Amino acid sequence: MATADLHLHTTYSDGRFTPSELVDAAARAGLRAIAITDHDHTGGLAEAREHARRYRLEILTGVEINTVWQDRELHVLGYGFDETLDWWDAFMREQRAGRARRMERFLERLADHGIALTMEDVARHADGGALGRPHLAQALVAARVVSSEQQAFDQFLSSQAPTYVPRDGISPAEAVQTIRRAGGVASLAHPKGLPLDEGPLFDELLEAGLGGLEVVHPSQPPALREYYRSLAESRGLLCTGGTDDHGPKEGQPSRIGSDGVPYAVVEALKSRSVAGSRGKESR
Ligand code: AMP
Ligand code: FE
Ligand code: FE
Ligand code: ZN
Repeated sequence: MATADLHLHTTYSDGRFTPSELVDAAARAGLRAIAITDHDHTGGLAEAREHARRYRLEILTGVEINTVWQDRELHVLGYGFDETLDWWDAFMREQRAGRARRMERFLERLADHGIALTMEDVARHADGGALGRPHLAQALVAARVVSSEQQAFDQFLSSQAPTYVPRDGISPAEAVQTIRRAGGVASLAHPKGLPLDEGPLFDELLEAGLGGLEVVHPSQPPALREYYRSLAESRGLLCTGGTDDHGPKEGQPSRIGSDGVPYAVVEALKSRSVAGSRGKESR
């Protein structure tokens, strides 16, 4: 049975639920454990842990780190690390500074196309969380440049759009090493479309200490999941997964509870990370 969802976003990045609301939704869905994996932010953990005390719901430390590999954006998930290490916050802040720089460049490109938006117009939708393209999409809707966030992505924000700005940042191998240095397990997020069976990417990640592969993800149909499962097992990697829920938006309900992984995956992640030895992960 799927009792754990290990890929979830809150208002600390581009999700619609606050950590408390997400915890409520997870408890309603009957989940036993969740990991909040906000983009380049671990600030939501404290609130989630506090709020989860009223339920039998375990919160595993998590994060989704944005990285760049050969001009492509690649996401690395981290689990069970020690976010209280003195350097961790500085690392997260540097990641978010990269997001702010990218956002400035997006605004310049949009200005070239006659669309005038300010950082404040975008930041208003982020509410202090990690700035991302979804917030710019919301600002474009609010300014009536487009009529939906999807249209904003299709016309301006997707990698095919003329106004697209690639992210510059750390490599996925560096993200894997950083998560390991903090005592965690790193898993490659939604690998669909990445060249894992050819070229150097997979070997680079394994060399850096990759510990998992995100097998269960809404973008990956059953056959692809089976492929990733066998690939993971052949390399001794854990099969992680979750709904990548960003909360209810544009008429779509939250996905939380619709998919996930067995609790045994959480136990394996804990046994391979400091979360297992600290013992403070379980509520
Ligand atoms: P960023 O972190 O700024 O690169 O934004 C990436 C986020 O934008 C993803 O995590 C999704 O939440 C969202 N996203 C990416 N591509 C699309 C798309 N084509 N349509 C809608 N949302 C998208
Ligand atoms: Fe996102
Ligand atoms: Fe992602
Ligand atoms: Zn995500």
